Amino acid sequence: MSTQTVHFHPKPETFKQNAREALADAPLRQSLRTAMDMLMTRRKTALSDEQELQMLRTLCEHIRQRSLSRLPELLEQLEAKLISLGVKVHWAETPSEACQIIHNIVSAHQGKLVVKGKSMVSEEIELNHYLEAQGIRAVESDLGEYIVQMAGEKPTHIVMPAIHKTKQQVSTLFNKELGTPLTDDVDELTGIARNALRDIYRTADVGLSGVNFAVAETGTLCLVENEGNGRLTTTVPPVHIAITGIEKVVAKLSDIPPLYSLLPRSAIGQPITTYFNMITGPRRSEELDGPQEMHLVLLDNGRTQAYGEEQMRRTLQCIRCGACMNHCPVYTRIGGAAYGTTYPGPIGEIVSPHMLGLDATRDLPTACTLCGACSEVCPVKIPITEQMIRLRVEAQRAPDEATTYPIRGQGASHSTGERLAWRIFEGVFSGKRLYRTFGWTASKLRALTPGKQLSWTDYRTPLKPAPKTLHELVAEKQKQQS
Ligand code: SF4
Repeated sequence: MSTQTVHFHPKPETFKQNAREALADAPLRQSLRTAMDMLMTRRKTALSDEQELQMLRTLCEHIRQRSLSRLPELLEQLEAKLISLGVKVHWAETPSEACQIIHNIVSAHQGKLVVKGKSMVSEEIELNHYLEAQGIRAVESDLGEYIVQMAGEKPTHIVMPAIHKTKQQVSTLFNKELGTPLTDDVDELTGIARNALRDIYRTADVGLSGVNFAVAETGTLCLVENEGNGRLTTTVPPVHIAITGIEKVVAKLSDIPPLYSLLPRSAIGQPITTYFNMITGPRRSEELDGPQEMHLVLLDNGRTQAYGEEQMRRTLQCIRCGACMNHCPVYTRIGGAAYGTTYPGPIGEIVSPHMLGLDATRDLPTACTLCGACSEVCPVKIPITEQMIRLRVEAQRAPDEATTYPIRGQGASHSTGERLAWRIFEGVFSGKRLYRTFGWTASKLRALTPGKQLSWTDYRTPLKPAPKTLHELVAEKQKQQS
């Protein structure tokens, strides 16, 4: 059970401090450990056929790379198709432009209430705050989002926004905000939220949703969800606004099944989701339900910058499954709030610099052990660790140093201590004799290793050299075999 002590809206600039606070929160760590173990086990069970998994990952990687290689052309095709279907298409370069577009649409209908399906892009542009400032109420309808909105927090996971909350905390929150009786029964808690949301769907002026995949050839907007709130949000209010990043487009409808086959299994170990919505325009004359008006907002917000460089372009392959977060040894210990970004964990570390700039996010790529677990589970094979290393290099570059990286930071130099440590590391590891002598000496002095090693041991076991060096072990093995 967690009592979240990380302040609710930390910034990426204070990541190190945020992480320290999260690490000191033992109940939060326990909560995360339990949830992440469950998700990892479920994914493993759902993807137990290794041959099928690798075949699908390769296929999905190719689909996403092929789509990205034709991105400008596919976006134009998508726009033309949507217009022919009666959808109004809007392009937004920045979050404020996207908010302004949405505000204009809502205002044109004298709207005062917006019901929202799950949309990380709307979190990215901080739409709720923007609308609130304009006197428009936006209510989240995804259960997790509904909970974090009511608590005045931000989502801490891209698929399960309230993963850091226990059912007891949710019950207390509902009791305080809705006046409902305290209960530990998850079905009852879900029922409370469902009842409260019924009227919101019925009276909302506008429904807003995200998009999982946008198909250029047919103009189909695909929406993956489990709660039915996405379907209600996109069909009950008279106006539907969908918002997505420009990278979500794929060429053909036949590209969807492989991606959909991996998305829920990678995310939460679920073979398929309860709902798979395929939206192709507003209500037609012969149809009984659906919105009378429909809009799509296509957001850039740094995506074109990432697109501009071959290595960083692969970031845009992401289908937002969250598997990299569930398997990350850092995310699973500090949770999502500490990152201070809309997208936390490994994917957040590589997309956020493009959205928020390299200077604000300088420390994020250092929150990585380079273990490679994220790249191994990524359904579209993004080489996340390679990108992480690249970002570390870029974050340390001097302002006048040559680079092909699309975002240039102010440059930062290591502290004197860090520089000295890296110099020693470089010296030892680049000379064979010195490396062996160093390893041998360390193993012999093993007994002298202190139990407390500065702040390293605050949350970790002490570093201790192995009793034998790798060369000694290999020599022993070879001797046994000969
Ligand atoms: S980077 Fe890969 S594993 Fe992480 S959210 Fe994106 S698709 Fe999923």
